[in-house]
Amino acid sequence: MYTLIETDVIIFGGGGAGSRAAIEAYDHGAKVVMAVKGKVGHSGCTPWVGTNAAVGPWSNENDRPEYAMRDLLAHGGFLGNQELVKILANDSANRIFELQDWGVELARNQDGNIAINHAPGHTFARNLTLKPSNPNPQKDGYPPGIAVMDALRGQLKKRDIRIMEDVALVDLLKTDGRVVGATAIDCNTNKFIVFKAKSTVLATGTYSHVFSHTTVSLYETGDGQAAAFRAGAELIDMENTQYIPARTGMPPGTILVNADGDRFLERYGIDGCKRMAKEITVRAVGTEIREGRCTDRGTMFVNVVDPMKKDEWDPDYWDRLEKNGSLYPGYTDQGINTAADQFETGPLAHTTTGGLRINDRCEASIPGLYAAGAVAGGVYGHARPEGFTVMITLVLGCRAGRLAAEGARSIDEVSIDEASADASFNRARAVYDVMAKNGIDETRSKIQSTMHEYAWVIKDRSGLETGLRVMKEIVFANRPMTQDVTKIMPADGFKWARALETSNLLLTAEMMLTGALERKESRGAFFRADYPETDNDNWLKNIIYNQLHGKVRVSTAAVDLRYCGPDDDRAVSPQWPRIDGRTRAIPTLARVGPYN
Ligand SMILES: Cc1cc2nc3c(=O)[nH]c(=O)nc-3n(C[C@H](O)[C@H](O)[C@H](O)COP(=O)(O)OP(=O)(O)OC[C@H]3O[C@@H](n4cnc5c(N)ncnc54)[C@H](O)[C@@H]3O)c2cc1C
Repeated sequence: MYTLIETDVIIFGGGGAGSRAAIEAYDHGAKVVMAVKGKVGHSGCTPWVGTNAAVGPWSNENDRPEYAMRDLLAHGGFLGNQELVKILANDSANRIFELQDWGVELARNQDGNIAINHAPGHTFARNLTLKPSNPNPQKDGYPPGIAVMDALRGQLKKRDIRIMEDVALVDLLKTDGRVVGATAIDCNTNKFIVFKAKSTVLATGTYSHVFSHTTVSLYETGDGQAAAFRAGAELIDMENTQYIPARTGMPPGTILVNADGDRFLERYGIDGCKRMAKEITVRAVGTEIREGRCTDRGTMFVNVVDPMKKDEWDPDYWDRLEKNGSLYPGYTDQGINTAADQFETGPLAHTTTGGLRINDRCEASIPGLYAAGAVAGGVYGHARPEGFTVMITLVLGCRAGRLAAEGARSIDEVSIDEASADASFNRARAVYDVMAKNGIDETRSKIQSTMHEYAWVIKDRSGLETGLRVMKEIVFANRPMTQDVTKIMPADGFKWARALETSNLLLTAEMMLTGALERKESRGAFFRADYPETDNDNWLKNIIYNQLHGKVRVSTAAVDLRYCGPDDDRAVSPQWPRIDGRTRAIPTLARVGPYN
């Protein structure tokens, strides 16, 4: 009934984290299989990356990895895993050197030095731009990040790694409390696959498609988080996502205005969009929307105040706005007339910050299971300065790959419990049955519209309670009836995977609402109108998610502040303005200093 594939290490996901993990696991002697929903390097967010942050020889002579570490932790509201952030800050330069060895070129100044720019949230300029591998990257729809994926794909090809594309993870399989592989659907052949593996690595990205308005690729539907939850693993910080303020970007010579034509950012102490951390601008935009100073579509406008500056922007960006009304892969709208003197814009949900809770060996809470990249949560906390998430995929992907290979070497054999493979197969068919009956796309729209209405940028208790009640009704209406499952196989593997994705979105949305109700404060990119302040006395804690009899259960865990915390001596950076005299949701940037 199933196709059985045996390997040392099975990796799910073909973005930066999955590809880098596969390379490292293979180089550490493991037999590796990679299963990817979609195509390697063309299915996730990594090809969209614009900027990479790393402290290295290109940096200011006063910069240090520990300052980068402090920036990351402060920006994330000190909820990050300090040991993982330390690894990230220390190892990022190595991953950049490696990309260079693998043929990636960094953008340079006219004097030939590597160009670095100073992105918001960084104490020093340390953001590098990759030279796109394709001379015309925007025409193919990708910014420079495609260079990372081209380099990783080149390295994968040099190794004897089995790559299975259009194969979607369904469930993790456990025997005697250890993850021993997983089930998956081959979307092209409609076959159910059982992977038997000594180590399993999840690198399946975010769950941002709980929102219809999102930047991320269509493949990011929380499949890894949901499978881990069902297997009994702990998840962390699922309540939060980051946002970008304007799906059109802020082209040169433009300003952001609300539906009344008011340059509202000034009221929030923001001089201009560009040099602000996204979270600050997004909070202002979210407040305008919440207070009704927006269009009926919950949007605002970009006003062209200096048309002469239009030429300063990449013509391909303008083309994309003309076609899609958005610069991002996850959201398309009616095209924009870029010759007009104003056009519509609005926030999009960006990368999520929650996911599998991992330790500094990238191990999840169940033996045999590893996670890296955006599928893992709690790494940097509730927000991040630009450029570090792609480095997480490379640094932690590499680490997870090595440790998964070493873990596989340390055990002789694993066995699959056939009953658990059968249960997964029946569940997958039952999910398809009920979703097909209720309408897969209709159910997905219901999830997304509920999240947009009750859990958008600025949340409050009554909205979250209503959202959770509605979400539980959708969960109930879509509960899989494994005992009634028809004997007929779903006819189309892609549609089957889409039904499973939708049920994963349902689960991750429920977790998000449950945790957002629990966190009674604002921090990083997480904003509650009824708790607008950051509350370090009560909420310097991560929210941990796991299941009890299949139901979402949350608890809290105090943050380990082993290297730095919000009470350390700090200097207020001008990048963090006060909002109406209130405490900022995001802590002030730290004064630099040694922290380990
Ligand atoms: C538009 C955009 C711009 C960004 N710009 C930057 C930037 O400039 N700098 C920065 O640091 N970060 C940036 N980020 C964030 C960064 O891109 C991501 O955090 C990072 O690339 C995530 O890498 P990943 O490998 O974890 O996931 P991805 O690259 O998203 O890959 C996930 C992979 O998992 C696969 N998958 C999903 N579900 C399954 C399943 N069920 N079975 C098998 N495979 C599955 C997907 O198909 C995909 O191959 C940006 C994100 C977006 C959306």
